[in-house]
Amino acid sequence: MTTAAEDIESVESFRDRARRWLADNLPPAPPIHFSEKGKSWSRARELQRLLYDGGFAGICFPKEYGGLGLTLAHQDAFSTESHDYEMPLAFNIPTLTICAATILDMGSEEQKRTHISAVLRGDELLAQFLSEPRGGSDLAGLTTRADRKGDNWILNGAKIWSSGAYAADYGLCLARTDWTVPKHSGLTMFLVPVQSEGLTLQRITQVDGSTEFCQEFFDDVVLPADSVVGEVNDGWKTATRQLFHERSAVSGASPYASGIQSHRGRDVTTGLLELARRTGQIDDPRVREDIGEASALNLVHDQLTTLITRAITAGSLPPAAGSIVRLSSAQNSWLQADTAVRIAGASAATGEPDKVTGSGQAGQDYLMRQGWSLAGGSTEMARNIISERVLGMPREAAEDRDVPFDQVKHGR
Ligand SMILES: Cc1cc2nc3c(=O)[nH]c(=O)nc-3n(C[C@H](O)[C@H](O)[C@H](O)COP(=O)(O)OP(=O)(O)OC[C@H]3O[C@@H](n4cnc5c(N)ncnc54)[C@H](O)[C@@H]3O)c2cc1C
Repeated sequence: MTTAAEDIESVESFRDRARRWLADNLPPAPPIHFSEKGKSWSRARELQRLLYDGGFAGICFPKEYGGLGLTLAHQDAFSTESHDYEMPLAFNIPTLTICAATILDMGSEEQKRTHISAVLRGDELLAQFLSEPRGGSDLAGLTTRADRKGDNWILNGAKIWSSGAYAADYGLCLARTDWTVPKHSGLTMFLVPVQSEGLTLQRITQVDGSTEFCQEFFDDVVLPADSVVGEVNDGWKTATRQLFHERSAVSGASPYASGIQSHRGRDVTTGLLELARRTGQIDDPRVREDIGEASALNLVHDQLTTLITRAITAGSLPPAAGSIVRLSSAQNSWLQADTAVRIAGASAATGEPDKVTGSGQAGQDYLMRQGWSLAGGSTEMARNIISERVLGMPREAAEDRDVPFDQVKHGR
């Protein structure tokens, strides 16, 4: 929604009001833990409700759907001010920044009114059902199917790697609804209740012990016609928006994130300095150089994010340019994780995660290093997108591009 400039509260006035409200209403932030282990979804719901009741939820979402209809500058001011307070950060990815943002762009009026406001009130969490066991990069090649039966759709298939789905209320699920057309043309996006009859959800235990990832099996799940997000057989359009929001979210560029994510921003340098201090290496020139390098890349990434986001908003770069930030974000996360392990030394592997120096935590966090180059689409796919859709280089060869999906040879 556009609001006349004169009706908008100034950023400075909004910042002052937010500062006072935060001090009066939110507890201090808990200690930094890069790992997602132990995330409390019920606490996140409570905190999101608190923000909503205080008038600080959904700063960049339109007013008619429960948001404030303000600008990114207002959101940035609030996020900066909220840095030292406990925030519902678990709502950011994927609920607010990816799923609610996609519903805002592609959903029906009814879906926007129902789901965006429920999310902003803290009543609803959303998940993404995109990746499948056969692979996530070739998203358009998915084989989960939805068949029309009377007024309903019948969903069958399997999804995997859905972050936090066990705690979610709905998942945005991309399924094949027409097998007689090329792969991008026969897809439809559905909003699927996680508690649906016929949906079996399993949590996956990762190498770092966390169980946030889920796998879902759909056996004749019945979905009403109004579960479709966007148009039937035009789900790729909805998915493209969703992937755009995902790249923005993962690289820290989304206007819908509230609060500062713990694995980026100034926390990263603070965390490395703290680790060097606790391990008695704060005066070591090599360690100081490493932290300087990590800090510099972090700064460059932040600036790049701002620059590219502005260019996409202004239309001077295509939305696909979000992949540049996505790529930089993975490289930045790698350097931060590598630097922490270099400082921690052997105790990254042998130390207990929560003991005094934090060295073991560095090792624990390192286990997620590779994940940052997969989440939101892999770095290789980001390079493909940049070369093909930003630089205009020739498209990667694909045997199945213009072939009806039911004639594509699978499993080769
Ligand atoms: C932290 C995290 C959170 C996630 N959350 C979700 C979620 O909520 N919902 C969801 O649906 N998924 C989620 N995913 C899954 C993620 O989208 C996939 O991991 C990603 O799309 C890659 O798919 P894949 O793991 O199946 O790898 P594959 O697609 O099997 O790829 C394997 C490797 O081959 C490379 N590769 C594949 N195709 C090409 C190509 N054409 N050119 C060059 N290289 C190629 C890839 O880059 C990768 O390195 C999450 C992943 C992570 C790590």
